[in-house]
Amino acid sequence: IASRIPADAGDNEPDQSALAEGEREGIVLKAYSGQFVVQADPDAGGIPRTVTCSLRGVLKKRFTYSTSGSQPRRVTRARQNIDVDVAVGDRVRFSSIDEAYGVIESILPRTSRFARSSFRGREQTMVTNLDQLVIVFACAEPNPDLWRIDRWLAAAKSNGLEPLIVANKRDRVDETTFQERFGEFAEIGYRLVATSAREQLGISELRALLAGRVSAFTGPSGVGKSSLLNEISPGLKLATGEIGEITFKGRHTTTVRELIPLVSGGWVADTPGLRQLELLNMDDDELLACFPEFVPALARTCRFRNCQHQNEPGCALKEAVASGEVSARRYESFLMLRREAEQR
Ligand code: GDP
Ligand code: ZN
Repeated sequence: IASRIPADAGDNEPDQSALAEGEREGIVLKAYSGQFVVQADPDAGGIPRTVTCSLRGVLKKRFTYSTSGSQPRRVTRARQNIDVDVAVGDRVRFSSIDEAYGVIESILPRTSRFARSSFRGREQTMVTNLDQLVIVFACAEPNPDLWRIDRWLAAAKSNGLEPLIVANKRDRVDETTFQERFGEFAEIGYRLVATSAREQLGISELRALLAGRVSAFTGPSGVGKSSLLNEISPGLKLATGEIGEITFKGRHTTTVRELIPLVSGGWVADTPGLRQLELLNMDDDELLACFPEFVPALARTCRFRNCQHQNEPGCALKEAVASGEVSARRYESFLMLRREAEQR
């Protein structure tokens, strides 16, 4: 089970120090047996290049994760710990040995970390600094399952990821059908982009929304995730169906982890462990926060102070559903997600 481990801001203050002589910054694209492929930040006007790095024996600065106490794992600084956990997504400082090789000197503070506890009971970091979840569905072929979209929106929220809904195969439906299927998400305020990988529609808009961020793609197979990524970043040449759905069962058993750099900027995380990105345990308030359009109704307050918004008379939310202010479909999704949370 992969989950987001919150970074503790207090222990993880940004490193303001200037780059040391000969040091450069970059992002870790791949990690394997003590070697790290680092994409160097472009020099002014230059294009990024990749450098294969090893770790300096003792990093000048590093972070470990203590599991003590009832708190979620906090980021703490460890003075002597050789078992340093540099992961895909980490921003690092490195010094060059030559054009192709370098040494990682330090890790910059992380904004997020996703890990799973699988490897001989040990926690394994899958990716760090992930910030966006791209939820891809097709307008048709296959028709979108709106409940699945709601569920992914909640998963993004509970994991602190910015959601982006992509409605691909826009060429397959007319405007009315498109609006019927996806319009409500834009109305609520979610970012929505309509695309057609086949007819190159919305591609530059999507490129702009991916630039500068680390994104994970999810969505059922056959909706066009691989086709879209090939359009966004020509040269990737992903095979059809290569970007699988993030399932809750874990389709892949391998642990190839990498960030795919896009030529237009930004990175896509291809991390099988994230296919199990789970809904965190959410209490009612956190769950309600996944439905921002309920806020005005709930502000009118229900008759009972501890209203469960289900069977109680005088429930402001149910009244909003009855009047059409809140979509009955979204309200049903809320009830279903709550039942799921209760069963956990
Ligand atoms: P993935 O499983 O989500 O990666 O989906 P693929 O990229 O493999 O695409 C599945 C099928 O849908 C392929 O046959 C694609 O050619 C087709 N496809 C992808 N994007 C579009 C699109 O925008 N419009 C249409 N009509 N077909 C598309
Ligand atoms: Zn209520």
